[in-house]
Amino acid sequence: MAGEPQDDCLFCKIVARQIPATIVRETETTLAFRDINPQAPTHVLVVPKAHYKNAAELAEAAPALAADVLAETRAVADEEKLESYRTVFNTGSGAGQTVWHAHAHVLGGRGLEWPPG
Ligand code: 5GP
Ligand code: ZN
Repeated sequence: MAGEPQDDCLFCKIVARQIPATIVRETETTLAFRDINPQAPTHVLVVPKAHYKNAAELAEAAPALAADVLAETRAVADEEKLESYRTVFNTGSGAGQTVWHAHAHVLGGRGLEWPPG
């Protein structure tokens, strides 16, 4: 069920501290940790602690929690002293989503091209 922890979900396991991650911030509802395969000097993932499969499901089922995630992307950028940064939610395999627990990428510390690939 949406919101419930999933046994087979990598990010649920990171939230439950069953798999290690370099955690940079935590709130009651969110966790932020460094991406294992960074694409920029700062590459942090912000996840809701509750399981939603992607940003679309999160926005629909739990808009206040989606706002918490967005607020945390700003807090991460602030802590990392990023003046410019990009927040990305890959939604669906065609857009590059590979982990099926909603997450925002916070990317910064280098120039970022637009439009993205
Ligand atoms: P997506 O492709 O779904 O938008 O993003 C998934 C992200 O999770 C990728 O950037 C990938 O590098 C990252 N990732 C995959 N496995 C792990 C892991 O075990 N630990 C951490 N910290 N990041 C991971
Ligand atoms: Zn999950």
